[in-house]
Amino acid sequence: MSVTLETSLARVLGPKTATGMAEQLSLHTVRDLLRHYPRRYAQRGEMARLDDLRVGDRVTILAQVTSVSTRRMRQRHGTITEVTVGDGAGSMTLVFFNHKHAALARGAWGLFAGTVGTYAGKLQFTHPDCHLLDNDDGEDWARALVPIYPASKDVSSWVIQKSVKLLIGAGGGFGDLVVDPIPEDLRARHGLPSLAAALLDIHRPTSLEDVEHAAHRLKWDEALTLQLTLAARRRAAALEPGTARPRRPGGLLDAVDAALPFDLTEGQRAVGDELAGELDRDQPMHRLLQGEVGSGKTVVALRAMAQVVDAGGQAALLAPTEVLAAQHARGIRALLGPLGRAGELDGDPSGTRVALLTGSLKAAARREARADVAEGRAGIVIGTHALIQEGVEFADLGLVVVDEQHRFGVEQRDALRAKGNRPPHVLVMTATPIPRTVAMTVYGDLEISTLRQLPSGRGGVSSSVVPVNEKRSWLDRAWERLREEVAAGRQAYVVCPRIGDEAGADDEPEDADGAPDDGPRADRRPPLAVLDIAELLRSGPLAGLRLDVLHGRLTPEEKDARMQAFAAREIDVLVATTVVEVGVDVPNATVMVVMDADRFGVSQLHQLRGRVARGKHAGLCLLVTDASSSSSTGQRLAAVAATSDGFELARLDLETRREGDILGAAQSGRRSGVRMLSLLEDEELIASARAEATALLETERGLADHPGLAAEVARLATDERAEWLEKA
Ligand code: ADP
Ligand code: MG
Repeated sequence: MSVTLETSLARVLGPKTATGMAEQLSLHTVRDLLRHYPRRYAQRGEMARLDDLRVGDRVTILAQVTSVSTRRMRQRHGTITEVTVGDGAGSMTLVFFNHKHAALARGAWGLFAGTVGTYAGKLQFTHPDCHLLDNDDGEDWARALVPIYPASKDVSSWVIQKSVKLLIGAGGGFGDLVVDPIPEDLRARHGLPSLAAALLDIHRPTSLEDVEHAAHRLKWDEALTLQLTLAARRRAAALEPGTARPRRPGGLLDAVDAALPFDLTEGQRAVGDELAGELDRDQPMHRLLQGEVGSGKTVVALRAMAQVVDAGGQAALLAPTEVLAAQHARGIRALLGPLGRAGELDGDPSGTRVALLTGSLKAAARREARADVAEGRAGIVIGTHALIQEGVEFADLGLVVVDEQHRFGVEQRDALRAKGNRPPHVLVMTATPIPRTVAMTVYGDLEISTLRQLPSGRGGVSSSVVPVNEKRSWLDRAWERLREEVAAGRQAYVVCPRIGDEAGADDEPEDADGAPDDGPRADRRPPLAVLDIAELLRSGPLAGLRLDVLHGRLTPEEKDARMQAFAAREIDVLVATTVVEVGVDVPNATVMVVMDADRFGVSQLHQLRGRVARGKHAGLCLLVTDASSSSSTGQRLAAVAATSDGFELARLDLETRREGDILGAAQSGRRSGVRMLSLLEDEELIASARAEATALLETERGLADHPGLAAEVARLATDERAEWLEKA
């Protein structure tokens, strides 16, 4: 049988192992298996660190059996076998009841995986998983590094290790199997080993230096493929001619500027000029506008939209939630006045219409909105993902604005873009600032503008952590502060991670995507719920205040009505889930109390906090938690409280998350092709790969002479598409 990278694992490993690998680890082909890298390496001497382990930790150790003894138990029926293992630096006991492990003989080396427990003050494993290392190939385990793979229920690390070993050819490596996609001159320039050598070293290293060298090369594979994909996207976009939308005096844009109740900040003006210039070119703009929460991105976008309408085109604004879409529509209609009501009785015929397209529109209203869009009467179109759906057609889409891009995928942006007769200009906005390398990767096909400055006259937000287990009285004080603010005419949000009232089984946390992965913790109480907390507050500390709830189980009409009531100051306190997280803008709100703050991610907390102090009054954000202030969770919250710099927090957030999440890919980041690359740590590597990728595509033949690279790029595209289909 000739084995290639595409060979299915079932043919190489047999159906049982292959099924486990496919179902539990998504490993289907020889390529998948070779790209399934060890998580770490067990080696002799690690037991010196055993003292640092805590009871309950799950660990794998490499050790040698030093003694075995079996005796009858005194209190109970049966036998107990105690096996002492050591690695020269430490030792521990493995305990088995009524079970003699025949192969566990003195002198044998093995991997022992178990949960740390203690007995009579000594660390022990009870019934650990044992895997004895055979010496058939003469390996000296006392000196070796044993790879520990990400494993699953039925596919243990050592099954994976054995399977990889099967693929090693007669030459003692992967040389017969692996064709290197990276051209030799590029490898030489950057001192990269061949792919076959790197794979061998990652799966069977003889030293940690080997691992590092190999990992560097394997990161290059990932970085280069990603950057080639992005460079190709940039090139393709640059080649498609768009339509210039020059500025025209005396139109909507001038009307917007005249109606603005404030002066633009310097940053808004500068970015505005940049956009105005790019819209005036027939090469489509592709720009990311990142700006701190509350920096005033909306008005920048609106001015660009107005310019496009003045030039005869349409502009679409894609928002992540109905609440936000409705708020944008309301704000823009108010600002445009009669100019936004062309065709209505009191409208200005020289103006345009503002269409709102969301999933909850009634059939008749939807038909009318779609007709306004298709026939060009609506110059400004605002909506949720309903905008992307089949059946929504534009007369002449000139600009696509995506608000809070982190909620959308590139595919959604592209789907909306595809509705232009020619490629429209694109502006994406995010308040989750991202480090440069992440930007180069995640948004690698965009130019970047940044709004650093907040409009002047903002009161600023002061934040504190309220550790209820340690300072119970602080919580009482928190509600008192909230009452004081309401007494002074202000308003407040109280945010909880869950809706509550488990009538439906669908009562998942509304949006826990930002929460760090602490793994399942059965001992944790369920997160606090909006409905419970609202009840408690109403009958307790906030009695007498006008209090209402907002969450994802309300109908869109109810949600919108409550947001409007809150904006109109008919509600003092809004108890809500993270539906208020992005973009909600009620300048009179000054207090944000986040219950169970530890259940939210860093960036999410920063976003939530951005909902207050959006006007001239100072804001207060209280992060209520029962985590202790010395725990890592408590410290994470303290960091959020201590800084208002979104960039710094974004970095902190990335450090506590996995790369796969950053890329928005499912679980492990497998789909995005990033397994080993660290977007934070490999800045230099990513920059070099970007330069090489750009240079490669600028040559006359592009990737034509590099079929291996072309295939990698195609594979990534297929995987991305597959993920898009899964999401849809
Ligand atoms: P974000 O960047 O978070 O989307 P918004 O665009 O929602 O922020 O703006 C936040 C608030 O600041 C809004 O109420 C908006 O009207 C107001 N705003 C925007 N620009 C200015 C400015 N130059 N001066 C004063 N207030 C402004
Ligand atoms: Mg916004």
